[in-house]
Amino acid sequence: MQNHEVKPCAACGGTLSSGMPVPFLGVRLTVQQLVVNKANLQRHVGLETFFGGGPQGRGLADVMGLGAGSAIDEPEDQRHEAIICNECSADVLMLFHKIRQRREAELEEFEEDLEVAAAEVDADA
Ligand SMILES: [Zn+2]
Repeated sequence: MQNHEVKPCAACGGTLSSGMPVPFLGVRLTVQQLVVNKANLQRHVGLETFFGGGPQGRGLADVMGLGAGSAIDEPEDQRHEAIICNECSADVLMLFHKIRQRREAELEEFEEDLEVAAAEVDADA
């Protein structure tokens, strides 16, 4: 980002560098609102049910429904971008922290599943 591109915070209008020295100047926030395509969603749920539901049914519905259109649309006119100051970004950073914790927990769970699977393979050998 060039210096001349730095503008006041989009949320509070304050300067990005106001307040105490902090490691981050601010946050570039991009929000993409998602819109449900009802017809495509119903088609997908129908396929999922047809294939027995659950992760397996969902997986088969994903494959069999290829080309039928997405259940979720991402309209470009529903994309918003803003740069907000560090103070205004506290809630957003909290959300990112929560997402990161969840991903790490899922990764740990996956690694534990791998260890269990590997132990079962060793026991069978
Ligand atoms: Zn602000």
